Amino acid sequence: MNAPLTNVQARDVEALLHPYTPIHRLREIGPLVIERGKGVYVYDTQGKAYIEGMAGLWCTGLGYGDEELIETATEQLRTLSYSHLFGAKGMEPAIELAEKLKEIAPIPISKVFYTSSGSEANDTQVKLAWYMNNALGRPNKKKIISRQKAYHGVTIMAASLTGLPYNHMGWDLPVDRVIHTDCPHYWRFGEDGESEAEFLARIVGSLRDLIEREGPDTIAAMIAEPVMGAGGVIVPPAGYYPAIKEVLDEHDIILIDDEVINGFGRTGNWWGAQTHGMVPTTISAAKQLTSAYVPLGAVLVPEDIYQAYVDHSRQIGTFGHGFTYGGHPLGCAVGAKTIEIYQKRDIIGKVRALAPVFEKRLKAVADHPLVGEVRYSGLVGGVELVADKKTKRSFDAKKGVGPGLVRFAEGHGAILRAIGDTIAFCPPMIITEAELNELFDRFEKALADTEAWVSKEGLR
Ligand code: PMP
Repeated sequence: MNAPLTNVQARDVEALLHPYTPIHRLREIGPLVIERGKGVYVYDTQGKAYIEGMAGLWCTGLGYGDEELIETATEQLRTLSYSHLFGAKGMEPAIELAEKLKEIAPIPISKVFYTSSGSEANDTQVKLAWYMNNALGRPNKKKIISRQKAYHGVTIMAASLTGLPYNHMGWDLPVDRVIHTDCPHYWRFGEDGESEAEFLARIVGSLRDLIEREGPDTIAAMIAEPVMGAGGVIVPPAGYYPAIKEVLDEHDIILIDDEVINGFGRTGNWWGAQTHGMVPTTISAAKQLTSAYVPLGAVLVPEDIYQAYVDHSRQIGTFGHGFTYGGHPLGCAVGAKTIEIYQKRDIIGKVRALAPVFEKRLKAVADHPLVGEVRYSGLVGGVELVADKKTKRSFDAKKGVGPGLVRFAEGHGAILRAIGDTIAFCPPMIITEAELNELFDRFEKALADTEAWVSKEGLR
């Protein structure tokens, strides 16, 4: 039985179209209305505290209410509340942040292009790949390879790159020019009796076949997120990125690295690419770039690719791409301060120190009858629930077992996220060991509630 809606919940339901929500059931579920946040905690309108086990949407790396960021934002708004980079205009915060990004990038980067979100960054990546190939006189080299279960955003092109049914069904997507290859998830997609090495060889071979079938001269780029976050926290087998890179290099296909979740320390290095052996050509960043205090995204490109844009611009005129808020001084000032904080408070060192505790607490539930697999990298992890542990059979999605667990967790004061029946963990990187243990204690209570509910309702 659901409690009657409070006044604020009723107003919410009347006024909002909620993203990623079963909107036909919103009135029944009742939205969880959050009022304020401090550290790793957020508080609802009743004053109840929750540990934010998902850092919002994988983004509030420095938690809530950081005074240094608030001060930086306030000062920037007083100094220059808006400016832009169109028509050869410049401003200090945009320059400073770009310099910092170049300093920490995992590969030599020449230029930074700003967006307001991760979707816009990935959309821009596709346009840039097309622009580059037009500049290089290869007008047919335009297709983009992505992966099943990948998440790259929701604009028309970013949603096309995404490889999840909810982003395609009902939306007339994906568009042409986007093709999907295998998801590198051995536990789920490895065949009976197939070793991890054999699985890896098979999916790399299948990428090669896809490229040959489509025609290498028609393919511009592949996009990949080192650890696939919103696709279910999928960590590819060791050796996967070097192996696909070899295939891509053979056919002059660039590798776009989507660091929107992985970037800025999440996996224990600045970039997920570094943790997982990926050598990208270009990079998309957002989310923890500003610790989500302000919306901001960025695309990082190397010198040779930048030179192709310059040549093209020389031929056809102005570089016709840019967003009103791309390089907003507020976002850039906060982004530059965020990176400075990651450095001076050694946030990456903290992630590395806590990762073994995170791993231990995840592994502690691996034997639970509802748990099929636990997966992790640094401080991002997932627990996949299954109806049958032996056969890995999933629950009927309509039973909503994952979302049910998340509701139980909220009851115990922990915010988590269900990706189907995978429960995702991505706490603010400032979380202490005691807070992390408390998060898992609350999760374990929710897991026990879920087990009781599944048994009582016969959901298996
Ligand atoms: N790429 C990845 C890997 C993401 O996780 C997300 C958002 N979850 C996006 C892109 C899209 O970012 P945004 O929601 O800011 O458009």
